[in-house]
Amino acid sequence: MRIVLLGAPGSGKGTQAKKLMADRNIPHISTGDMLREAVSAGSRFGARAKTIMEAGQLVPDDIMLGIISERLTRPDAADGFILDGFPRTRQQAGDLEELLDQLGAPLDAAVLMDVDFEMLTKRLTGRRTCSLTGKLLNVYFSPQDEIDDCLNAGGELIQREDDNEETIKNRLDVYREQTEPVVSFYEKRSKLKAVDAEGSIDEVYERFSQAL
Ligand code: AMP
Repeated sequence: MRIVLLGAPGSGKGTQAKKLMADRNIPHISTGDMLREAVSAGSRFGARAKTIMEAGQLVPDDIMLGIISERLTRPDAADGFILDGFPRTRQQAGDLEELLDQLGAPLDAAVLMDVDFEMLTKRLTGRRTCSLTGKLLNVYFSPQDEIDDCLNAGGELIQREDDNEETIKNRLDVYREQTEPVVSFYEKRSKLKAVDAEGSIDEVYERFSQAL
């Protein structure tokens, strides 16, 4: 199965992709995670990506195409993949289509995680990761005992650098202007499936699995 996950920042793409990866044993390819790894590795490219990400802007399309081409031609992606965070522009969507045509491996579907814009801000400002387990939590929505489990075990609740209010506003603006056109790109090709992505993680996963 080859799918693209679409949705605004905070729509739960990463969370749902991780569950699907565990269920179906196909790699979850998150361009945001790949860029954060490059930032941590401290390369020159990583330093440039850091500045762009902290501003809530997008890394240029030609660089993203290079990264994704390399990743999709690795052996573990031969039997399928879940793309999370790519494509994010109309140009990237066209580039991906061309790349997959060359590989003879067209997409099965593009799934849109549909969440109300007001809800997104709360999901993003409240988002934390437990420093011990890597578990994703939200200070507004996670059960208190899950938050306490992390803190009582000596963990810290880490906030992503780009989850501050100003950057979040920019990321949502960029989504509206540059990524929403990608939704109609897949609609025109009859590949789009929209999933109501509000509710608990399990409820959304149930709808997501049904859509697939
Ligand atoms: P994410 O974790 O998917 O929200 O991505 C975090 C940040 O990485 C974004 O705000 C962008 O700055 C950058 N990024 C991730 N994926 C892409 C992409 N496909 N094109 C351009 N920039 C990206």
